[in-house]
Amino acid sequence: MNVTWLAAGYCLNIEALTRRGAPWRVARYPAGFALLRHPERGAVLFDTGYHPRFHEATARWPYKAYALLTPVRVREHESAAAQIARLGVAPTDVREVIVSHFHADHLGGLKDFPRATFRFHPDAYETVRGKSGMEAVRRGFLPDLLPDDFEARSEALTGETDLPSAFAPFTRGFDVFGDESAWAVNVPGHAAGQIALIVRGDRGSVLLAADSAWSTRALRDKAGPHKLAERLFADPAEEKRSFARVSDFMARHPDALVLPSHCPEAPTVRP
Ligand SMILES: [Zn+2]
Repeated sequence: MNVTWLAAGYCLNIEALTRRGAPWRVARYPAGFALLRHPERGAVLFDTGYHPRFHEATARWPYKAYALLTPVRVREHESAAAQIARLGVAPTDVREVIVSHFHADHLGGLKDFPRATFRFHPDAYETVRGKSGMEAVRRGFLPDLLPDDFEARSEALTGETDLPSAFAPFTRGFDVFGDESAWAVNVPGHAAGQIALIVRGDRGSVLLAADSAWSTRALRDKAGPHKLAERLFADPAEEKRSFARVSDFMARHPDALVLPSHCPEAPTVRP
């Protein structure tokens, strides 16, 4: 399966919050997402990054708190839909969007894919379902980013099974397409029900790590997020376990490409 790594906009964050021991300076964190081209299913997205509608969705209180805490930069031509169009994939050709978790920097573009089915871990949606106001903001969720018919087009992942031993230390996962070409694995903590995706890519294994770590450097150095950042996590203890597992995966699979969603070092394609 062909995997293209892209980014739709970025946010500003303090480097020291993302990786222990890093300098206290402001850095750019791209909102990464992947375009997968499955031989039978066609175009599939893993997340969608930011979208200019983030600014509308955060124009009012209390949603404005999100934008003040996380300065976001994204322009129309940087949206997931605009970028994949330049790669020859029309938004209506996208048949599935896999949502790693329901933070606004992963949902930004969902409304641009009217024919897509949404796939995610049931726990991820359950924690934001029906939430608005401060309850939503506290979970990093902006309800205006979900398409009106989101639930009607949703198909939560079910049927977790044993994974091929080649994917250790992950032992369980969801066979997303039913052909063992991509496995969703649980990396909760940063958000409830967060998933990462292990893809058998054309050029070897790829781990789309979502927000289980901020960067590959953090994973290499085994330097997780700062204590202050942990306060924003759904479950800091689970976050540590997920980070350790992804870090272990990277160490055991030096040939695999590991892509945390916001990694500044990721080999991002800019169509
Ligand atoms: Zn997140």
